[in-house]
Amino acid sequence: METIDLRSDTVTRPTDAMREAMLRAPVGDDVYGEDPTVNALQDRLAADLGFAAGLFVPTGTQSNLLALMSHCERGDEYIVGADAHTYRFEGGGAAVLGSIQPQPIVQDADGTLPLDKVEASIKPVDPHFARTRLLTLENTWHGRPLPFEYLGKARDLATRRGLGFHLDGARLYNAAVAYGRPARDVAAPFDSVSVCLSKGLGAPVGSVLLGDAALIERARRWRKVAGGGWRQAGMLAAAAMHALDHHVERLADDHARAARLADGLRRVEGLEVKGCHTNMVFVDVPAARLKDLATHMDTHGVKLSIGYLPSIRMVTHLDVDDEGIERTIAAFASFAC
Ligand SMILES: *Cc1c(COP(=O)(O)O)cnc(C)c1O
Repeated sequence: METIDLRSDTVTRPTDAMREAMLRAPVGDDVYGEDPTVNALQDRLAADLGFAAGLFVPTGTQSNLLALMSHCERGDEYIVGADAHTYRFEGGGAAVLGSIQPQPIVQDADGTLPLDKVEASIKPVDPHFARTRLLTLENTWHGRPLPFEYLGKARDLATRRGLGFHLDGARLYNAAVAYGRPARDVAAPFDSVSVCLSKGLGAPVGSVLLGDAALIERARRWRKVAGGGWRQAGMLAAAAMHALDHHVERLADDHARAARLADGLRRVEGLEVKGCHTNMVFVDVPAARLKDLATHMDTHGVKLSIGYLPSIRMVTHLDVDDEGIERTIAAFASFAC
């Protein structure tokens, strides 16, 4: 029995066609800016998303960190969702490594930071305060595409108050597919965007940070400082290019499968299913039953991440097919909550 792994969309393995593309990739030393495949990836994403430049980096965490460090200096501040990845799930990197203070804002249920609260949190220019420099959003957030009109309103606020505007777009393409708009429109309001290639797009490694030429030059310097100056990274960039060519439109299949999973689980007694959001489904099970659930799912070949978030999060991706969805629903149905 093949295991269905719903813990995250990071678990995908490169397809045979992707591995072929990696084997054929021309490479060079990227610290010297001489890897043709890395350069092609950076140029392509910059052109696709409407930015002057891009920087290929190992992880989304590093991409966000470099963005924060390129927008802000020591003693500056960024405004961020209290449940955003760039605040909560990146080890406090901006503060630890960048000497940048976070100003977290409690998000509404749709992932938005209420703009009146954002504005009220901007510090006066005065030596008592950190200098508020940057507003960061995340889209999708826990699988939810932010309301599209909100992006423009947040942009207006950033412009009016002289703040930089960064998007953690780890799942930018999931948002674009959900809106039915080009990814470029989703990125357009921002000064910088970080995109993960190793999530739903199915590349083994990598993220790209996009911005204007000056910001990307600063980020390139910080990437080296952070130990992220890599060499013949073109083999990884080739996987990312392949993902952009072949795995964007199919994200709609992941969203459809997540919707089917949510529908099926809603018919199971004792489960509380909280929406289906792009490629994610969240389910609550009585806490006393979680341990038994983990064992039960194990014997049915379904891998879940249990006990990490308050709800059980299930994520569909390239390596989850229709049979996997049916098997997961059946495994929940045969478990008595
Ligand atoms: C996964 C993720 C990141 C970071 O990506 P890593 O490559 O795992 O470091 C950043 N933001 C969001 C929203 C993510 O889901």
